[in-house]
Amino acid sequence: MITPESSPSPTSPICSAKGCRAAAVWVLAWNNPKLHTPDRRKTWLACEEHREHLSQFLGVRGFLKDVVTLAEWEARPEASGESGGSGESSAADR
Ligand SMILES: [Zn+2]
Repeated sequence: MITPESSPSPTSPICSAKGCRAAAVWVLAWNNPKLHTPDRRKTWLACEEHREHLSQFLGVRGFLKDVVTLAEWEARPEASGESGGSGESSAADR
């Protein structure tokens, strides 16, 4: 019997680019002012190959706020969760 590879390593985050299954190395932090409050950060993950493509996509729209390595992002104290700090507004913003 041959067991198909059903589970790639669950610990490594995957690139957010469409169709890409490469391990993510970069975190792109962005914010859409029409949808999000100014201190909100959405994140995309990117491999080496797609970092530039994804950051340009966000950059031309003026959404891109930050590009850091995954290791650096996870080391940030404020990275975990989306708690912005002041005003515990976790309510819906759609
Ligand atoms: Zn990729």
